[in-house]
Amino acid sequence: MTQPDPRPELRPHALIVGAGAAGLSAAWWLDRAGWRTTVLERAPDLRRDGYMIGLSGPGFEVARRMGILPALRAHDRRIGENVYRNRAGRQIVRLRYAELLRGFEWITLSRTELVAELLAAARPVADIRFGVTVDAIEQDGERVTARLTDGTVEAADLLIGADGVHSAVRRLCFGADAAFERPLGFRVAAFEAEDRLGLGHDFLSYSEPGRIAEFYTLAPRRLATLYIWRSPDAAAVPPAQRAHVLRRAFDDSHPDALRWIDNHPAGAPMFLDSMTLIEMPRWRTGRVLLLGDAAHCLTLLSGQGAGMAMASANVLADELARGGGIDAALDRHEARMRPAVARLQQRSRRIAGAFIPATRRGYALRNLSLRWMPRRLLAWYFMRNARSEVLAASADLGLDRPG
Ligand SMILES: Cc1cc2nc3c(=O)[nH]c(=O)nc-3n(C[C@H](O)[C@H](O)[C@H](O)COP(=O)(O)OP(=O)(O)OC[C@H]3O[C@@H](n4cnc5c(N)ncnc54)[C@H](O)[C@@H]3O)c2cc1C
Repeated sequence: MTQPDPRPELRPHALIVGAGAAGLSAAWWLDRAGWRTTVLERAPDLRRDGYMIGLSGPGFEVARRMGILPALRAHDRRIGENVYRNRAGRQIVRLRYAELLRGFEWITLSRTELVAELLAAARPVADIRFGVTVDAIEQDGERVTARLTDGTVEAADLLIGADGVHSAVRRLCFGADAAFERPLGFRVAAFEAEDRLGLGHDFLSYSEPGRIAEFYTLAPRRLATLYIWRSPDAAAVPPAQRAHVLRRAFDDSHPDALRWIDNHPAGAPMFLDSMTLIEMPRWRTGRVLLLGDAAHCLTLLSGQGAGMAMASANVLADELARGGGIDAALDRHEARMRPAVARLQQRSRRIAGAFIPATRRGYALRNLSLRWMPRRLLAWYFMRNARSEVLAASADLGLDRPG
């Protein structure tokens, strides 16, 4: 990396829209590449999400390079075992993740904790503004000008849309969402509740044909719920209707899976979205670049969305620091990222077909194989699927060795 010019006015300027894993990592990495950054976050404060994410492969290595691994490790919740029950509450199988992923480095923490640590890292080196976003974006050769919702105007050498799967920057500069959205046929809901299960490090799942409800401890006295179900409908659901849509999808499920929905206080936050890949022929137009989910949402099935958002920021800064002009650096960034993204999107598609069997027969067969497959074989299967592809993505990005 080049040594940043100490005079801020002489540094190139990036306007980053979105303070999630992609935007905050980009702010940190671009500072190292000698850039000045402004981050705009629409939410008045850090967005809080009631779900846990795993950081492995590319994201794990980038966290190490950023020096935030010890801080992330302090939040790590080693998952013990996942107990699967059927609709009647009968145990189907118990899976011990520590055994299945032995030798594989990963950290499990809430998305909120990851983003808070990235914010702590980025804050000293970036101008981070909450409660403001972009209204309009114009490009003139090598300058981008954005009109902000607070009435001000910001000019930059690069505008980065890191505003997630439903990116407004994408809509403003690349076109309608429908051209890039590839729904996988599932909806996902997640919310927090007061923990009355006391699961410790274990997960509890109610698994049925076409749907699954999962519960785990997110933080002391906080339970995280995660509901996933097959649905041909990928339309956005307004917050006020989410509990109703979720209730309908799990109507005749096990009472323990339903209880949390029924007890969810009206108006309390609930995440509900369709599971949708974003596939785009290009991630940049002129000096506007999309990063993270905005460019290439991988969905939760890949288990790599946040990690790849962080990796993309690292690769971008590498390429900008190499010189040769901003446009050439943006092209090299995209060329380096594409193979790993394609690999992980393919993985999401493949898992989508199998992970919640649609039919009773498929469900019974899946349960039988889980129950009777020798543990060694099951571990091999997990490793082959999870580990090898994640490590391959790291290798694609040159993140498979300490940098
Ligand atoms: C249930 C679930 C489980 C997951 N599990 C994993 C996992 O195990 N491992 C993993 O790596 N990934 C996982 N993911 C995926 C991961 O959460 C995402 O890939 C990652 O958060 C993407 O980061 P991002 O910064 O691109 O987008 P986001 O996290 O969506 O952040 C975008 C930010 O932009 C803000 N924003 C939105 N619109 C605007 C706007 N117009 N103007 C300004 N700001 C805006 C948002 O408020 C937000 O702060 C999971 C996702 C889900 C839903």
